[in-house]
Amino acid sequence: MTESDEINAMVSDFSRVYILTILHEGPVHGYEIISKFKKVIGKDISPSLVYPFLKKLEEKGLVTYSLKPVGAKKRKVFELTQEGKEFSERLFKRFSELISVALEPSLEICAHCGCKVYEGGYVERIKGRELSFCCVHCAASYKLSLGIK
Ligand SMILES: [Zn+2]
Repeated sequence: MTESDEINAMVSDFSRVYILTILHEGPVHGYEIISKFKKVIGKDISPSLVYPFLKKLEEKGLVTYSLKPVGAKKRKVFELTQEGKEFSERLFKRFSELISVALEPSLEICAHCGCKVYEGGYVERIKGRELSFCCVHCAASYKLSLGIK
């Protein structure tokens, strides 16, 4: 896979998650998914991604559809099943956890005061253990509390 193939694959995965959020809001027909996607994300989504994905969800019992008249035609209106709702809620939770982990800088906790140490903390080796502190003063207080000078 080239880099742009990989990016496209990631974007398709994201698009599928987003389709699930649209379905999670309530029954929709395929065309509404496509127009809502464009409105919110600002990009076109290919029907060749949307319809096979809906079909796959249907095969897995996560989506069901009914035929509703729209004008002179009948259109499939898709809706999440109970299982589909539970599945997508688990997925959204997992997705938001992943994103918050990705955005959170790697944090250490000050061994003395317990505050979160972003960049530029102070590390000192005390009794053979490497400990992180928010500042040199906390390290001094910590040593004092252990009776180390
Ligand atoms: Zn501290």
